[in-house]
Amino acid sequence: MRLLIVEDEANLARHLRRGLEEAQFVADVCGSVEAAWQHLLASTYDALVLDLGLPGEEGTVLLRRMRESGLPTPVLILSARGTVDDRVAGLNSGADDYLSKPFVFSELLARVRALVRRGHGQAAPVLQVGDLRLDVLKRQAERNGRAIELTAREFGVLELLMRHAGEVVTRTMLADHVWGDDYDTLSNLIDVFINRLRKKIEGGGGARLLHTVRGAGYVMRQEPH
Ligand code: CA
Repeated sequence: MRLLIVEDEANLARHLRRGLEEAQFVADVCGSVEAAWQHLLASTYDALVLDLGLPGEEGTVLLRRMRESGLPTPVLILSARGTVDDRVAGLNSGADDYLSKPFVFSELLARVRALVRRGHGQAAPVLQVGDLRLDVLKRQAERNGRAIELTAREFGVLELLMRHAGEVVTRTMLADHVWGDDYDTLSNLIDVFINRLRKKIEGGGGARLLHTVRGAGYVMRQEPH
C-alpha cells in the first residue's frame, strides 16, 4: 500500500509518515503541489493525504488537476480549515474525505484505510479508441503493441480527443484546452499540429481514427468495417 503525503509542515509530515509506516504503508512525502504532481506522474499511489495551505499553489489546485486528468486516486484532505463550508468546498473539488486539524492519528489511519479499500477495484484510467490505447496515468500511448512517442502537448490533444471519442472536438476547444489562447491566431498551427499527430498514430498502419470534420473540427472514432 503506497501513500503520498502532501504536507509542508516538516514535523507533521514526519509524524504522519512514521505512523503510517508503522501501519505497514509505504509513504512518500512532499511539500508542494508541483512536487506532488511529479510524484503522481512517476508512481502509482493507493491514496493521498493532502494539506490545503501549501507554499505556492493551494492543495485544491492539485486535486482539480488530478480529477481533470482522470486520475482517480482517493484523496483525504487534512487541513486546519475546519468549517462546514471548507469541508464542502474540499469535497466539491474532488476530495473523497476531509479531516480537520487538530486530529487524532487513529482516526486518520481509519479513514485512510477506508479510502484505500474503496479505491481498490478502480482500474487505472486507460482510454481506448479502436486499437489505440492511451494510459493517462503512465502518460503512454500505444497502438497494436507499438509505443507511440508523444510530446506533452500532443498527449494533451490526443487525451482530449479520446475523452470525447465519437463527438466533434472543435478547433476552439482545442485552442482553449491546449494553448489557452485565441483560436484565430492558431488556426493554421492547429492543422499542422493535427497532421503531425495523425502521422504518429496512423503512420504505423491500422484504420484511420482521427477524422477531420470540415468547417467544424476533429473527431476520434473507428469507422465500421
Ligand atoms: Ca500547511
